[in-house]
Amino acid sequence: MLPVVALVGRPNVGKSTLFNRLTRTRDALVADFPGLTRDRKYGQANYDGYQFIVVDTGGIHGDEEGIDEVMAKQSLQAIEEADVVLFLVDARDGVTVGDQAIATHLRKQKKKVYLVANKIDGIDADSAMADFYSLALGNLYGIAAAHGRGVEHLLDSCFKPLADDYPDVIVPDEPDSEDLEHDEIDYDALPLKLAIVGRPNVGKSTLTNRILGEDRVVVFDMPGTTRDSVYIPMERDGREYVLIDTAGVRRRGRIDEAIEKYSVVKTLQAIEDANVVLAVIDARETISDQDLNLIGFALNAGRSIVIAVNKWDGLQQDHKDEIKRELDRRLGFVDFARLHFISALHGTGVGHLFESVEEAYKSATQRVSTSKLTKIMEMAQEEHQPPLVGGRRVKLKYAHAGGYNPPRIVIHGNQVTRLPGSYQRYLTNYFRKALGVMGTPIKVEFREPK
Ligand code: GDP
Ligand code: GDP
Repeated sequence: MLPVVALVGRPNVGKSTLFNRLTRTRDALVADFPGLTRDRKYGQANYDGYQFIVVDTGGIHGDEEGIDEVMAKQSLQAIEEADVVLFLVDARDGVTVGDQAIATHLRKQKKKVYLVANKIDGIDADSAMADFYSLALGNLYGIAAAHGRGVEHLLDSCFKPLADDYPDVIVPDEPDSEDLEHDEIDYDALPLKLAIVGRPNVGKSTLTNRILGEDRVVVFDMPGTTRDSVYIPMERDGREYVLIDTAGVRRRGRIDEAIEKYSVVKTLQAIEDANVVLAVIDARETISDQDLNLIGFALNAGRSIVIAVNKWDGLQQDHKDEIKRELDRRLGFVDFARLHFISALHGTGVGHLFESVEEAYKSATQRVSTSKLTKIMEMAQEEHQPPLVGGRRVKLKYAHAGGYNPPRIVIHGNQVTRLPGSYQRYLTNYFRKALGVMGTPIKVEFREPK
Protein backbone atom coordinates (compact mmCIF):
# COMPACT_ATOMS: atom_id res chain seq x y z
CA MET A 1 0.00 0.00 0.00
CA LEU A 2 1.18 3.48 -0.77
CA PRO A 3 1.05 6.27 1.78
CA VAL A 4 -1.45 9.02 1.04
CA VAL A 5 -0.60 12.70 1.24
CA ALA A 6 -3.37 15.32 1.12
CA LEU A 7 -2.75 18.93 0.11
CA VAL A 8 -5.00 21.36 1.95
CA GLY A 9 -5.22 25.12 1.91
CA ARG A 10 -6.92 28.21 0.59
CA PRO A 11 -7.18 28.78 -3.14
CA ASN A 12 -4.06 30.22 -4.77
CA VAL A 13 -1.55 29.16 -2.15
CA GLY A 14 0.10 26.82 -4.65
CA LYS A 15 -1.51 23.42 -4.14
CA SER A 16 -1.79 22.61 -7.85
CA THR A 17 1.75 23.77 -8.43
CA LEU A 18 3.02 21.44 -5.74
CA PHE A 19 0.75 18.66 -6.97
CA ASN A 20 2.15 18.97 -10.48
CA ARG A 21 5.70 19.01 -9.23
CA LEU A 22 5.15 15.85 -7.19
CA THR A 23 3.36 13.93 -9.92
CA ARG A 24 5.38 15.34 -12.81
CA THR A 25 3.97 14.16 -16.11
CA ARG A 26 1.84 11.45 -14.65
CA ASP A 27 -1.83 11.92 -15.29
CA ALA A 28 -3.95 13.18 -12.49
CA LEU A 29 -7.14 11.41 -11.75
CA VAL A 30 -9.92 13.88 -11.34
CA ALA A 31 -12.86 12.61 -9.38
CA ASP A 32 -15.92 13.62 -11.33
CA PHE A 33 -18.57 11.58 -9.64
CA PRO A 34 -21.85 13.18 -8.66
CA GLY A 35 -22.06 14.93 -5.33
CA LEU A 36 -18.55 16.28 -5.44
CA THR A 37 -18.74 20.02 -5.00
CA ARG A 38 -15.11 20.85 -5.48
CA ASP A 39 -12.50 19.39 -7.74
CA ARG A 40 -10.28 16.86 -6.19
CA LYS A 41 -7.27 15.56 -8.03
CA TYR A 42 -5.44 12.34 -7.33
CA GLY A 43 -2.03 11.47 -8.62
CA GLN A 44 0.72 9.00 -8.14
CA ALA A 45 3.87 10.68 -7.03
CA ASN A 46 7.35 9.34 -7.38
CA TYR A 47 9.58 12.04 -6.01
CA ASP A 48 13.16 11.40 -5.23
CA GLY A 49 12.40 7.71 -4.81
CA TYR A 50 9.44 8.28 -2.51
CA GLN A 51 6.27 6.76 -3.86
CA PHE A 52 2.90 7.88 -2.64
CA ILE A 53 -0.57 8.95 -3.62
CA VAL A 54 -1.11 12.68 -3.51
CA VAL A 55 -4.51 14.30 -3.28
CA ASP A 56 -5.21 17.93 -4.07
CA THR A 57 -8.30 18.47 -1.99
CA GLY A 58 -9.40 21.57 -3.86
CA GLY A 59 -9.50 25.06 -2.47
CA ILE A 60 -11.01 25.66 0.90
CA HIS A 61 -11.62 29.31 1.63
CA GLY A 62 -12.09 28.91 5.33
CA ASP A 63 -13.78 32.27 5.70
CA GLU A 64 -17.27 31.15 4.76
CA GLU A 65 -19.89 30.28 7.33
CA GLY A 66 -18.57 27.54 9.53
CA ILE A 67 -15.62 25.49 8.54
CA ASP A 68 -17.49 22.21 8.76
CA GLU A 69 -19.91 23.41 6.17
CA VAL A 70 -17.23 24.84 4.00
CA MET A 71 -15.01 21.86 3.90
CA ALA A 72 -17.20 19.85 1.66
CA LYS A 73 -17.80 16.33 2.87
CA GLN A 74 -15.62 14.99 0.12
CA SER A 75 -12.67 17.13 1.08
CA LEU A 76 -13.05 15.99 4.65
CA GLN A 77 -12.99 12.43 3.46
CA ALA A 78 -9.76 13.09 1.60
CA ILE A 79 -8.19 14.37 4.79
CA GLU A 80 -9.51 11.42 6.75
CA GLU A 81 -8.01 9.01 4.28
CA ALA A 82 -4.61 10.63 4.28
CA ASP A 83 -1.61 9.53 6.28
CA VAL A 84 -0.13 12.98 6.09
CA VAL A 85 -1.75 16.36 5.57
CA LEU A 86 0.28 19.15 4.03
CA PHE A 87 -1.39 22.40 5.00
CA LEU A 88 -0.21 25.03 2.55
CA VAL A 89 -0.17 28.74 3.30
CA ASP A 90 1.10 31.65 1.24
CA ALA A 91 4.27 33.09 2.75
CA ARG A 92 3.60 36.39 1.00
CA ASP A 93 0.11 36.86 2.43
CA GLY A 94 0.88 36.22 6.07
CA VAL A 95 -1.72 34.49 8.24
CA THR A 96 -5.26 35.04 7.01
CA VAL A 97 -8.60 34.40 8.67
CA GLY A 98 -9.07 31.50 6.30
CA ASP A 99 -5.77 29.94 7.36
CA GLN A 100 -6.82 30.21 10.99
CA ALA A 101 -10.14 28.51 10.36
CA ILE A 102 -8.50 25.67 8.52
CA ALA A 103 -5.84 25.33 11.22
CA THR A 104 -8.50 25.11 13.91
CA HIS A 105 -10.17 22.35 12.02
CA LEU A 106 -6.96 20.44 11.39
CA ARG A 107 -5.91 20.63 15.02
CA LYS A 108 -9.07 18.71 15.92
CA GLN A 109 -8.19 15.85 13.59
CA LYS A 110 -5.87 13.19 14.82
CA LYS A 111 -3.70 13.54 11.77
CA LYS A 112 -0.11 14.29 11.18
CA VAL A 113 -0.21 17.81 9.78
CA TYR A 114 2.75 19.64 8.30
CA LEU A 115 2.47 23.37 7.91
CA VAL A 116 4.04 24.49 4.66
CA ALA A 117 4.70 28.11 3.74
CA ASN A 118 4.91 28.34 -0.03
CA LYS A 119 6.37 31.02 -2.31
CA ILE A 120 9.45 31.78 -0.22
CA ASP A 121 11.40 32.54 -3.39
CA GLY A 122 12.59 36.12 -3.72
CA ILE A 123 11.50 37.22 -0.24
CA ASP A 124 13.06 37.22 3.21
CA ALA A 125 11.83 33.75 4.09
CA ASP A 126 12.62 33.79 7.80
CA SER A 127 10.72 36.93 8.63
CA ALA A 128 7.84 36.04 6.32
CA MET A 129 7.47 32.66 7.93
CA ALA A 130 7.66 33.79 11.54
CA ASP A 131 4.04 34.88 11.43
CA PHE A 132 2.81 31.33 10.82
CA TYR A 133 4.02 29.91 14.12
CA SER A 134 0.92 31.55 15.57
CA LEU A 135 -1.12 28.78 13.92
CA ALA A 136 0.36 26.43 16.50
CA LEU A 137 0.75 23.47 14.21
CA GLY A 138 4.32 22.65 15.11
CA ASN A 139 7.14 22.64 12.64
CA LEU A 140 6.98 24.96 9.71
CA TYR A 141 8.48 24.19 6.34
CA GLY A 142 9.32 26.81 3.77
CA ILE A 143 9.14 25.84 0.12
CA ALA A 144 8.89 27.31 -3.34
CA ALA A 145 6.68 24.80 -5.11
CA ALA A 146 7.23 26.52 -8.42
CA HIS A 147 10.98 25.98 -8.25
CA GLY A 148 11.24 22.89 -6.08
CA ARG A 149 13.14 24.57 -3.28
CA GLY A 150 12.60 22.91 0.10
CA VAL A 151 10.36 20.16 -1.27
CA GLU A 152 12.86 17.37 -0.75
CA HIS A 153 13.49 18.40 2.83
CA LEU A 154 9.74 18.53 3.46
CA LEU A 155 9.19 15.02 2.09
CA ASP A 156 12.13 13.62 4.03
CA SER A 157 10.57 14.98 7.19
CA CYS A 158 7.06 13.74 6.60
CA PHE A 159 7.97 10.29 5.34
CA LYS A 160 10.55 9.30 7.93
CA PRO A 161 7.92 8.74 10.63
CA LEU A 162 6.00 6.53 8.20
CA ALA A 163 8.88 4.22 7.42
CA ASP A 164 7.71 1.53 9.84
CA ASP A 165 4.27 1.38 8.28
CA TYR A 166 5.45 1.49 4.68
CA PRO A 167 8.81 -0.26 4.58
CA ASP A 168 8.43 -1.32 0.96
CA VAL A 169 7.78 2.05 -0.58
CA ILE A 170 9.87 4.31 1.57
CA VAL A 171 13.19 3.18 0.30
CA PRO A 172 14.30 6.05 -1.82
CA ASP A 173 16.64 4.29 -4.18
CA GLU A 174 16.44 3.19 -7.76
CA PRO A 175 15.34 -0.39 -8.26
CA ASP A 176 18.08 -2.23 -10.08
CA SER A 177 16.66 -3.39 -13.38
CA GLU A 178 19.29 -6.10 -13.50
CA ASP A 179 17.72 -7.56 -10.42
CA LEU A 180 15.98 -10.78 -11.33
CA GLU A 181 14.73 -11.77 -7.92
CA HIS A 182 11.35 -12.27 -9.55
CA ASP A 183 12.74 -15.43 -11.07
CA GLU A 184 12.47 -16.98 -7.66
CA ILE A 185 8.79 -16.21 -7.24
CA ASP A 186 6.40 -19.01 -8.09
CA TYR A 187 3.49 -16.91 -9.27
CA ASP A 188 1.21 -19.90 -9.81
CA ALA A 189 1.43 -20.83 -6.17
CA LEU A 190 0.34 -17.39 -5.00
CA PRO A 191 -3.28 -16.32 -4.77
CA LEU A 192 -4.17 -14.01 -7.63
CA LYS A 193 -5.25 -10.65 -6.28
CA LEU A 194 -8.10 -9.32 -8.36
CA ALA A 195 -9.36 -5.79 -7.73
CA ILE A 196 -12.86 -4.89 -8.88
CA VAL A 197 -12.89 -1.17 -9.54
CA GLY A 198 -15.11 1.40 -11.19
CA ARG A 199 -17.16 4.49 -10.51
CA PRO A 200 -20.12 4.36 -8.13
CA ASN A 201 -23.17 2.47 -9.40
CA VAL A 202 -21.50 0.68 -12.29
CA GLY A 203 -22.37 -2.62 -10.60
CA LYS A 204 -19.28 -3.60 -8.61
CA SER A 205 -21.19 -4.97 -5.63
CA THR A 206 -23.61 -6.82 -7.85
CA LEU A 207 -20.70 -8.36 -9.73
CA THR A 208 -18.81 -9.28 -6.58
CA ASN A 209 -21.88 -10.96 -5.15
CA ARG A 210 -22.43 -12.75 -8.43
CA ILE A 211 -18.85 -14.02 -8.50
CA LEU A 212 -19.04 -15.20 -4.93
CA GLY A 213 -22.43 -16.77 -5.57
CA GLU A 214 -23.63 -18.99 -2.85
CA ASP A 215 -20.21 -20.39 -2.12
CA ARG A 216 -19.13 -20.31 1.40
CA VAL A 217 -16.66 -17.50 1.58
CA VAL A 218 -14.73 -15.95 4.34
CA VAL A 219 -15.19 -12.22 4.29
CA PHE A 220 -13.07 -10.22 6.61
CA ASP A 221 -13.11 -6.49 6.88
CA MET A 222 -9.80 -4.84 7.24
CA PRO A 223 -9.94 -2.73 10.34
CA GLY A 224 -9.92 1.00 10.05
CA THR A 225 -11.13 3.63 7.74
CA THR A 226 -13.12 4.16 4.60
CA ARG A 227 -10.01 3.72 2.56
CA ASP A 228 -9.67 0.02 3.29
CA SER A 229 -11.12 -2.47 0.87
CA VAL A 230 -12.57 -5.81 1.85
CA TYR A 231 -10.31 -8.74 0.99
CA ILE A 232 -12.19 -11.90 0.10
CA PRO A 233 -10.33 -15.16 -0.41
CA MET A 234 -12.00 -17.53 -2.87
CA GLU A 235 -11.19 -20.49 -5.05
CA ARG A 236 -12.15 -21.13 -8.61
CA ASP A 237 -11.10 -23.94 -10.95
CA GLY A 238 -8.31 -24.95 -8.63
CA ARG A 239 -6.83 -21.48 -8.43
CA GLU A 240 -6.80 -19.34 -5.33
CA TYR A 241 -7.90 -15.74 -5.61
CA VAL A 242 -8.25 -12.81 -3.32
CA LEU A 243 -10.98 -10.47 -4.47
CA ILE A 244 -10.23 -6.91 -3.51
CA ASP A 245 -13.66 -5.47 -3.09
CA THR A 246 -13.69 -1.69 -3.25
CA ALA A 247 -17.47 -1.51 -3.09
CA GLY A 248 -17.64 -3.08 0.33
CA VAL A 249 -19.99 -6.03 -0.08
CA ARG A 250 -22.23 -6.33 2.87
CA ARG A 251 -21.77 -9.28 5.09
CA ARG A 252 -24.45 -11.84 4.75
CA GLY A 253 -27.06 -11.36 7.45
CA ARG A 254 -26.20 -7.73 7.94
CA ILE A 255 -28.07 -6.36 5.01
CA ASP A 256 -28.90 -3.09 6.62
CA GLU A 257 -25.28 -2.26 7.14
CA ALA A 258 -24.57 0.93 5.30
CA ILE A 259 -22.86 0.55 2.00
CA GLU A 260 -19.48 2.11 2.24
CA LYS A 261 -18.86 5.31 0.48
CA TYR A 262 -17.06 5.35 -2.78
CA SER A 263 -13.50 6.40 -2.26
CA VAL A 264 -10.92 7.23 -4.88
CA VAL A 265 -8.07 6.58 -2.48
CA LYS A 266 -9.49 3.16 -1.74
CA THR A 267 -9.70 2.45 -5.45
CA LEU A 268 -6.13 3.55 -6.06
CA GLN A 269 -4.84 1.48 -3.15
CA ALA A 270 -6.72 -1.55 -4.45
CA ILE A 271 -5.14 -1.11 -7.88
CA GLU A 272 -1.71 -0.85 -6.30
CA ASP A 273 -2.24 -4.02 -4.34
CA ALA A 274 -3.75 -6.10 -7.16
CA ASN A 275 -2.20 -8.36 -9.75
CA VAL A 276 -5.08 -7.95 -12.14
CA VAL A 277 -7.58 -5.10 -12.24
CA LEU A 278 -11.12 -5.76 -13.33
CA ALA A 279 -12.36 -2.37 -14.49
CA VAL A 280 -16.12 -2.17 -14.56
CA ILE A 281 -17.86 0.28 -16.89
CA ASP A 282 -21.58 1.00 -17.08
CA ALA A 283 -22.93 0.38 -20.60
CA ARG A 284 -25.84 2.68 -19.89
CA GLU A 285 -23.67 5.67 -19.15
CA THR A 286 -21.34 7.19 -21.67
CA ILE A 287 -17.78 6.28 -20.85
CA SER A 288 -16.39 9.09 -18.74
CA ASP A 289 -12.98 10.61 -18.24
CA GLN A 290 -12.88 9.07 -14.83
CA ASP A 291 -13.37 5.61 -16.30
CA LEU A 292 -10.44 6.27 -18.62
CA ASN A 293 -8.38 7.80 -15.83
CA LEU A 294 -8.85 4.75 -13.65
CA ILE A 295 -7.71 2.46 -16.45
CA GLY A 296 -4.80 4.78 -17.19
CA PHE A 297 -3.78 4.74 -13.55
CA ALA A 298 -3.81 0.95 -13.51
CA LEU A 299 -1.63 0.83 -16.61
CA ASN A 300 0.81 3.37 -15.18
CA ALA A 301 1.07 1.21 -12.12
CA GLY A 302 1.94 -1.73 -14.39
CA ARG A 303 -1.18 -3.71 -13.56
CA SER A 304 -2.85 -6.22 -15.83
CA ILE A 305 -6.31 -5.27 -16.85
CA VAL A 306 -9.61 -6.79 -17.96
CA ILE A 307 -12.51 -4.51 -18.84
CA ALA A 308 -16.10 -5.48 -18.07
CA VAL A 309 -18.86 -3.50 -19.75
CA ASN A 310 -21.74 -4.16 -17.37
CA LYS A 311 -25.55 -3.85 -17.67
CA TRP A 312 -25.46 -5.34 -21.16
CA ASP A 313 -28.92 -6.82 -20.56
CA GLY A 314 -32.03 -5.50 -22.24
CA LEU A 315 -30.32 -3.14 -24.68
CA GLN A 316 -31.47 -2.67 -28.26
CA GLN A 317 -29.11 -3.92 -30.93
CA ASP A 318 -28.47 -0.49 -32.45
CA HIS A 319 -27.76 0.91 -29.00
CA LYS A 320 -25.25 -1.90 -28.44
CA ASP A 321 -23.56 -1.14 -31.75
CA GLU A 322 -23.31 2.49 -30.83
CA ILE A 323 -21.77 1.71 -27.44
CA LYS A 324 -19.23 -0.60 -29.05
CA ARG A 325 -18.17 2.07 -31.53
CA GLU A 326 -17.74 4.56 -28.70
CA LEU A 327 -15.65 2.10 -26.68
CA ASP A 328 -13.47 1.33 -29.69
CA ARG A 329 -12.84 4.99 -30.17
CA ARG A 330 -11.93 5.78 -26.58
CA LEU A 331 -10.20 2.62 -25.42
CA GLY A 332 -7.55 2.59 -28.17
CA PHE A 333 -4.81 3.13 -25.59
CA VAL A 334 -5.61 -0.23 -23.96
CA ASP A 335 -6.31 -2.22 -27.10
CA PHE A 336 -4.42 -5.13 -25.54
CA ALA A 337 -6.99 -5.54 -22.77
CA ARG A 338 -9.90 -7.93 -23.26
CA LEU A 339 -13.32 -6.37 -23.29
CA HIS A 340 -16.28 -8.35 -21.91
CA PHE A 341 -19.93 -7.47 -22.23
CA ILE A 342 -21.69 -8.77 -19.16
CA SER A 343 -24.72 -8.55 -16.99
CA ALA A 344 -23.78 -8.82 -13.35
CA LEU A 345 -27.48 -8.79 -12.53
CA HIS A 346 -28.29 -11.89 -14.58
CA GLY A 347 -24.86 -13.47 -14.54
CA THR A 348 -24.42 -13.40 -18.29
CA GLY A 349 -20.77 -13.49 -19.34
CA VAL A 350 -19.44 -13.35 -15.80
CA GLY A 351 -17.75 -16.77 -15.91
CA HIS A 352 -15.79 -15.88 -19.01
CA LEU A 353 -14.19 -12.94 -17.23
CA PHE A 354 -11.95 -15.36 -15.42
CA GLU A 355 -10.52 -16.72 -18.66
CA SER A 356 -9.22 -13.27 -19.45
CA VAL A 357 -8.07 -12.68 -15.89
CA GLU A 358 -6.03 -15.88 -16.07
CA GLU A 359 -4.69 -15.00 -19.47
CA ALA A 360 -3.62 -11.54 -18.34
CA TYR A 361 -1.92 -12.92 -15.25
CA LYS A 362 -0.12 -15.54 -17.30
CA SER A 363 1.03 -12.89 -19.74
CA ALA A 364 2.30 -10.79 -16.89
CA THR A 365 4.25 -13.55 -15.20
CA GLN A 366 5.40 -15.94 -17.93
CA ARG A 367 9.13 -16.57 -18.04
CA VAL A 368 10.86 -15.77 -21.30
CA SER A 369 14.48 -16.71 -21.91
CA THR A 370 17.19 -14.31 -22.98
CA SER A 371 17.70 -16.25 -26.20
CA LYS A 372 14.05 -15.99 -27.16
CA LEU A 373 13.88 -12.29 -26.35
CA THR A 374 17.07 -11.64 -28.26
CA LYS A 375 15.73 -13.58 -31.24
CA ILE A 376 12.55 -11.50 -31.29
CA MET A 377 14.61 -8.34 -30.93
CA GLU A 378 16.72 -9.34 -33.94
CA MET A 379 13.64 -10.01 -36.03
CA ALA A 380 12.22 -6.63 -35.11
CA GLN A 381 15.51 -4.97 -35.95
CA GLU A 382 15.68 -6.70 -39.30
CA GLU A 383 12.17 -5.69 -40.30
CA HIS A 384 12.68 -2.12 -39.25
CA GLN A 385 16.17 -0.75 -38.69
CA PRO A 386 16.65 1.67 -35.81
CA PRO A 387 17.01 5.25 -37.02
CA LEU A 388 20.34 7.03 -37.19
CA VAL A 389 21.31 8.80 -34.01
CA GLY A 390 23.99 11.46 -34.39
CA GLY A 391 24.73 10.14 -37.86
CA ARG A 392 25.37 6.60 -36.67
CA ARG A 393 23.24 3.49 -36.86
CA VAL A 394 22.28 2.31 -33.38
CA LYS A 395 22.81 -1.38 -32.92
CA LEU A 396 20.72 -3.50 -30.56
CA LYS A 397 22.88 -6.25 -29.09
CA TYR A 398 20.73 -8.45 -26.89
CA ALA A 399 17.57 -8.48 -24.80
CA HIS A 400 16.74 -10.05 -21.48
CA ALA A 401 13.86 -10.08 -19.05
CA GLY A 402 14.23 -7.37 -16.43
CA GLY A 403 11.28 -8.45 -14.35
CA TYR A 404 7.72 -9.67 -14.42
CA ASN A 405 4.32 -8.50 -13.35
CA PRO A 406 4.55 -6.24 -15.28
CA PRO A 407 6.97 -7.72 -17.79
CA ARG A 408 10.04 -5.63 -18.47
CA ILE A 409 12.33 -6.25 -21.38
CA VAL A 410 15.79 -4.73 -21.21
CA ILE A 411 17.63 -4.13 -24.47
CA HIS A 412 21.38 -3.61 -24.48
CA GLY A 413 23.53 -1.85 -27.05
CA ASN A 414 25.59 1.22 -27.76
CA GLN A 415 23.64 4.47 -27.90
CA VAL A 416 20.32 2.67 -27.36
CA THR A 417 19.16 5.18 -24.76
CA ARG A 418 19.16 7.80 -27.48
CA LEU A 419 16.59 5.95 -29.59
CA PRO A 420 13.39 7.93 -30.12
CA GLY A 421 10.12 7.07 -28.41
CA SER A 422 8.65 5.98 -31.72
CA TYR A 423 11.17 3.17 -32.03
CA GLN A 424 10.58 2.14 -28.45
CA ARG A 425 6.85 1.91 -29.19
CA TYR A 426 7.57 -0.11 -32.31
CA LEU A 427 9.63 -2.57 -30.29
CA THR A 428 7.02 -2.74 -27.53
CA ASN A 429 4.31 -3.65 -30.03
CA TYR A 430 6.57 -6.12 -31.76
CA PHE A 431 7.36 -7.93 -28.50
CA ARG A 432 3.71 -7.88 -27.54
CA LYS A 433 2.68 -9.63 -30.75
CA ALA A 434 5.58 -12.06 -30.82
CA LEU A 435 5.07 -13.13 -27.22
CA GLY A 436 1.27 -13.17 -27.49
CA VAL A 437 0.98 -10.94 -24.45
CA MET A 438 -2.60 -9.94 -23.64
CA GLY A 439 -4.04 -7.83 -20.89
CA THR A 440 -0.84 -6.52 -19.42
CA PRO A 441 1.29 -3.49 -20.17
CA ILE A 442 4.86 -4.38 -21.08
CA LYS A 443 7.84 -2.11 -20.82
CA VAL A 444 10.83 -2.03 -23.11
CA GLU A 445 13.85 -0.36 -21.53
CA PHE A 446 17.28 0.44 -22.92
CA ARG A 447 20.63 -0.01 -21.28
CA GLU A 448 24.07 1.01 -22.51
CA PRO A 449 27.35 -0.55 -21.47
CA LYS A 450 28.84 1.31 -18.53
P1 GDP B 1 -3.91 26.54 -5.76
O1 GDP B 1 -5.15 27.30 -6.03
O2 GDP B 1 -3.64 26.43 -4.28
O3 GDP B 1 -3.88 25.20 -6.44
O4 GDP B 1 -2.67 27.43 -6.31
P2 GDP B 1 -1.85 27.32 -7.68
O5 GDP B 1 -0.92 26.17 -7.65
O6 GDP B 1 -2.80 27.42 -8.81
O7 GDP B 1 -0.95 28.64 -7.58
C1 GDP B 1 -1.50 29.92 -7.46
C2 GDP B 1 -0.51 30.96 -7.98
O8 GDP B 1 0.68 30.97 -7.20
C3 GDP B 1 -0.07 30.67 -9.40
O9 GDP B 1 0.00 31.89 -10.10
C4 GDP B 1 1.33 30.08 -9.23
O10 GDP B 1 2.14 30.33 -10.35
C5 GDP B 1 1.82 30.80 -8.01
N1 GDP B 1 2.83 29.99 -7.29
C6 GDP B 1 2.74 28.70 -6.92
N2 GDP B 1 3.87 28.30 -6.31
C7 GDP B 1 4.69 29.37 -6.27
C8 GDP B 1 6.03 29.59 -5.75
O11 GDP B 1 6.69 28.70 -5.22
N3 GDP B 1 6.53 30.84 -5.89
C9 GDP B 1 5.85 31.83 -6.49
N4 GDP B 1 6.44 33.02 -6.57
N5 GDP B 1 4.60 31.66 -7.01
C10 GDP B 1 4.03 30.45 -6.89
P1 GDP C 1 -21.60 -0.28 -7.29
O1 GDP C 1 -21.83 1.05 -6.67
O2 GDP C 1 -20.60 -0.19 -8.43
O3 GDP C 1 -21.24 -1.36 -6.32
O4 GDP C 1 -22.97 -0.71 -8.02
P2 GDP C 1 -24.13 -1.72 -7.53
O5 GDP C 1 -23.68 -3.13 -7.66
O6 GDP C 1 -24.61 -1.26 -6.21
O7 GDP C 1 -25.21 -1.47 -8.66
C1 GDP C 1 -25.78 -0.20 -8.89
C2 GDP C 1 -27.14 -0.38 -9.54
O8 GDP C 1 -27.00 -0.97 -10.84
C3 GDP C 1 -28.06 -1.30 -8.74
O9 GDP C 1 -29.35 -0.78 -8.80
C4 GDP C 1 -27.95 -2.63 -9.47
O10 GDP C 1 -29.11 -3.41 -9.35
C5 GDP C 1 -27.79 -2.17 -10.91
N1 GDP C 1 -27.07 -3.17 -11.72
C6 GDP C 1 -25.92 -3.78 -11.41
N2 GDP C 1 -25.55 -4.65 -12.38
C7 GDP C 1 -26.50 -4.59 -13.34
C8 GDP C 1 -26.71 -5.26 -14.59
O11 GDP C 1 -25.91 -6.10 -15.03
N3 GDP C 1 -27.81 -4.91 -15.31
C9 GDP C 1 -28.71 -3.99 -14.86
N4 GDP C 1 -29.76 -3.73 -15.62
N5 GDP C 1 -28.56 -3.35 -13.67
C10 GDP C 1 -27.48 -3.64 -12.92
